[in-house]
Amino acid sequence: MRHFLLMVLLCLAISSVGQTGEKVYFIRAAKLYDPVTNKFLANQDIIVRGRKIEKVGPGLKKPEAAEEINCKNCTITPGLIDAHTHVLTIQRMKDQLEEDILQHSDIERTLRAVSICKSYLDAGFTTIRDLGNSGQFLDMNLKRAIQKGWVEGPRMVISGPILSPEDGQFSNLSSHNNYVIDHEYRVIKNVEDARQAVKDHIARGVDVIKVVMGDGRITLSLEEVKMIVQTAHTYGLKVTAHATYDQVIDRALEAEVDGIEHGYGIADSLLEKMARKKIYLVPTIGNHDAYTRLFKDNEKELTPEEQQGLKSFIENSEAIVKKAIEKGVMVVNGSDMYLFSKIPQGEAAKNTLDTYFEACHNPADVLKTATLNAAIACGLDGFTGIIKENMAADIVAFEGDLEKDFLTSLYKVKLVMINGVILRR
Ligand SMILES: [Zn+2]
Repeated sequence: MRHFLLMVLLCLAISSVGQTGEKVYFIRAAKLYDPVTNKFLANQDIIVRGRKIEKVGPGLKKPEAAEEINCKNCTITPGLIDAHTHVLTIQRMKDQLEEDILQHSDIERTLRAVSICKSYLDAGFTTIRDLGNSGQFLDMNLKRAIQKGWVEGPRMVISGPILSPEDGQFSNLSSHNNYVIDHEYRVIKNVEDARQAVKDHIARGVDVIKVVMGDGRITLSLEEVKMIVQTAHTYGLKVTAHATYDQVIDRALEAEVDGIEHGYGIADSLLEKMARKKIYLVPTIGNHDAYTRLFKDNEKELTPEEQQGLKSFIENSEAIVKKAIEKGVMVVNGSDMYLFSKIPQGEAAKNTLDTYFEACHNPADVLKTATLNAAIACGLDGFTGIIKENMAADIVAFEGDLEKDFLTSLYKVKLVMINGVILRR
C-alpha cells in the first residue's frame, strides 16, 4: 500500500512538472480563417498551450505567464498543407525525370531535400505529403530526422516508393539503366503482388499509398488497383492515384481510390462521379506567371505553338478547378513543384494557390484546399487543418488581409508555428 501511494505521488509530481513546463501563447488576430465555416472571422484570440490549441474566440482573457503575440495587422490561418510534393527529386526541363537519380546519390538527394523542407517552412507550410520519387524510403529517413529535431522541416506524410506499372515513370530509359526503375518504384507484377506491395509498404511505416496508373505503354489493371485499395483500406491507409487522362482516371475511380492526382483535362462526367463517390482531386497546376518563370529558370524558349498550347492548358486547368468546386468535388492543394526553380521550392509551390484563386476568385475556397481538405487527404483531419480546441497548434500569420488582398498577403509570412513551437517569426 505504501508503495502504491508513493507511485501515485510520483506520478502526480511528474505530471505537474509537465504542466508547468508547457509554453503558453496568447495570439491576438485581426482576422482568422476558419475552414469549417469557410469564413474569415474578425478579432479572434487564440490560446496555445504546449503542443495544442486550448481555446479560440473573441475577447479571451490572456492567461497569466502567456507570451502575447500581437497579430493585429495579420490574417491567421491553420498551417498550410501541400498535399503533393517530391522533395527528394528535382528535374531540369532539359532532362528526363530519371536524370536526377542517375546523377545524385541518396545522400546528396537527402541533404538537398533538407533545404527544400526549410523553404516550405519559410513559405508557411506546416505539413507536406510527399508522394514518391524518393528512392528507397529516403522520405522515411527525412521524416524521422525532422521528428527527432535533427533538421528543420514541416510535418511529413509519406508514401515511400510509388506503386507502378513495369516502366515506373521512365519510358525512355536505355536498357543498361533499367535498374533505376526498381530504385525509385515498386513495380506491380500482378494482383497478388499488388497486395504484397501494400503490405510491405505498411510494414515499413508509410502513411499513404501512392499509385501511378500509367502514362505510357503500360497501365495498372482494374483488378490490381482494386487489390491495392482493398488492402490499404483494411489497414486504414488512403490510396491516391496519379492519373492523367480519362481512361485511367475512370479506372482509378472504379477501384475506389481516395484521391486523384493531376486529373489533367478530366471530363465533367468524371468530376460528377468523383463528387458522388467523395473522391478528392489534387489539381497540380500553375498559372502563366509561374510557367513563364520556370521556363526562364530552365533556359527553355517556347515556340509560338508551344505558348498557345500552354495558354489553353492553363485555361482548361483553371476551368476544371472552378467546375470541380461548383460540382462539390473536394479540391486539395498540391503543387507537384519538383521542377528546377531559382526561387525556393516552398515559395514556388504557393503558386498553385494563386492559380486556384484565378480559377475561383474566392480566397476562402482556396485556403480550404490547403487546410481542412488537405488535412483530410493526408488522413490528419481531427489533428491539424483547423484552428480549434485540442487541435495541434499549427498556425501561420500572414501580414495584411488575406480575404481582401489574397495574392499579396499570401507571400508575406510573419509567423509559423508547428505543434506549438514557433519556427519562423
Ligand atoms: Zn507528382
